[in-house]
Amino acid sequence: MNFIIAGGSRGIGAEAVRFFSAQGHRVRFLYEKNHAAAMAVSRETGAEAVCCDVADKDAVTEALRDFGPADVLINNAGIAHYGLISQIGKAQWDRMFAVNVHGMYHCIDAVLPGMLQNQSGCIINVSSMWGQVGASCEVCYSATKGAVIALTKALAKELGPSHIRVNCVAPGVVLTDMCANVAPETMEWLREETPLERHGLPADMVQAMDYLVRACFVTGQVLAVNGGMII
Ligand code: NAP
Repeated sequence: MNFIIAGGSRGIGAEAVRFFSAQGHRVRFLYEKNHAAAMAVSRETGAEAVCCDVADKDAVTEALRDFGPADVLINNAGIAHYGLISQIGKAQWDRMFAVNVHGMYHCIDAVLPGMLQNQSGCIINVSSMWGQVGASCEVCYSATKGAVIALTKALAKELGPSHIRVNCVAPGVVLTDMCANVAPETMEWLREETPLERHGLPADMVQAMDYLVRACFVTGQVLAVNGGMII
């Protein structure tokens, strides 16, 4: 199958590129700026890396133009910011929505004509447990990830009759660069709050994505992959 993975140079997305490439699928992934990481993943997996800011609609259209119809889109590109709502500022607020929400729309819009033509497709959006319950000091991030859940449910209803499934993975704490600046005491507290008593790994998220790719009667769902932290 043909996979598009947004945000494939690092973390969860890079693990998804590794996994689906190793399964023999053709993978093209997008990344924003980390060329060295993207080239390393591309060399390792044989997947195509394309530098493209998902917040730029024209750039996304161009990046996916010659790919042909995609069977699977994994909308994983995302950014986070930790701080009080009074400190975030409008530019950062707008940027987080531009990447985390508008970026998803841009990727969906680019792959949809091919999926509609095939009357088949699978879209997996990456939300967060904070999109389900909200996190103090991550109000904007939580709002974007809540939007991802609503987008997923609405789009699943709209595209179901075209045999295109749309689901969402809502990770808990996952050990990637995104958590690198979280204080060790906070990480330890989050681990203690997790019934399975560990943080998530990118491979845990990819296992859930793999399930959603194969689960042909599942659409519009939010699959929480958080070690039981949010039940
Ligand atoms: P990460 O390690 O920081 O990797 C983020 C990836 O997204 C990188 O490949 C990055 O590319 C790409 N990206 C960021 N902004 C982009 C843009 N404007 N255009 C194109 N690509 C862009 O993050 P992660 O932890 O793997 O997170 C992946 C997804 O899971 C995100 O949506 C995140 O919100 C969600 N999530 C993560 C956690 C967690 O604890 N880690 C928890 C819940 C949800 P560059 O390398 O070029 O920067």
